[in-house]
Amino acid sequence: MPKNLAKGAAALAAAMVALSGCSAADDGDDGRPVVLTTFTVLADMAENVAGEHLRVESITKAGAEIHGYEPTPGDIRRAADADLILDNGLNLEAWFAQFVESVDVPHVVVSDGVDPIDIAGDAYAGTPNPHAWMSPLNALVYVENMVDAFSELDPDHADDYAANGDAYAAELQAVHDELVGELEALPATQRALVTCEGAFSYLARDAGLEEAYIWPVNAEQQATPQQIAAAIEFVDTASVPAVFCESTVSDKPMQQVVDATGAAYGGVLYVDSLSEADGPVPTYLDLLRYDAETIAAGLTS
Ligand SMILES: [Zn+2]
Repeated sequence: MPKNLAKGAAALAAAMVALSGCSAADDGDDGRPVVLTTFTVLADMAENVAGEHLRVESITKAGAEIHGYEPTPGDIRRAADADLILDNGLNLEAWFAQFVESVDVPHVVVSDGVDPIDIAGDAYAGTPNPHAWMSPLNALVYVENMVDAFSELDPDHADDYAANGDAYAAELQAVHDELVGELEALPATQRALVTCEGAFSYLARDAGLEEAYIWPVNAEQQATPQQIAAAIEFVDTASVPAVFCESTVSDKPMQQVVDATGAAYGGVLYVDSLSEADGPVPTYLDLLRYDAETIAAGLTS
């Protein structure tokens, strides 16, 4: 064989080895235990705690509506191959109980230990608001639960999970201080946060904001004429300067509120999902910072 051709063949063989290694990794078969989360926010937190030791994936994709998600047969196959599944709990994932029953894989509810805020009104009155991660202080509890779960799954790296958890907790505390500082600086007349879904109870509590929303939890029956009328009345009465809506739902109902009141549309907030990697909130810490900035900018403009 001529020298150049031999060289080319060797390079091709090496490339094929690299390729097959690559596709094996895409199938989740890189030897690391697999942790599956129900949505992207949890996946990002879990990656921060797991470091390089675990392969973390989200069942739902960026931008997905997570409350009423309908798992596919492919999701069930992925779950059956996973080593651990993390869900938020507090009735966030209406589909999860049935889903997790169909596979023989341990699961951990990461909100365990959080002090829940009950939903104030509507058909959900008295049930916990599931969006506990919207307080970074609650996320500290999520991180503790992840450290425990990963240490049980993979005891050899327990020290690393604890160290990763501590480092991430310090970042969460810093973002908490930052966003509370930013929102506490708003004047008393501009301290009302009006959104589509009632997903901000925990953030509103941390930052001392009054919260109002069109519907309590994303579901089939949302944005009824009565709910929109109540939001319009709240915005008018409190002279709210700007209103917001979340990335995973239509902002049309909130545009009706804007049209009927003097409020401006303050922009999109992120709660139930991160953005794609090249979007504004590729991580949970980005999500918290982005929302605080958007709210502060909208209410002061
Ligand atoms: Zn939600």
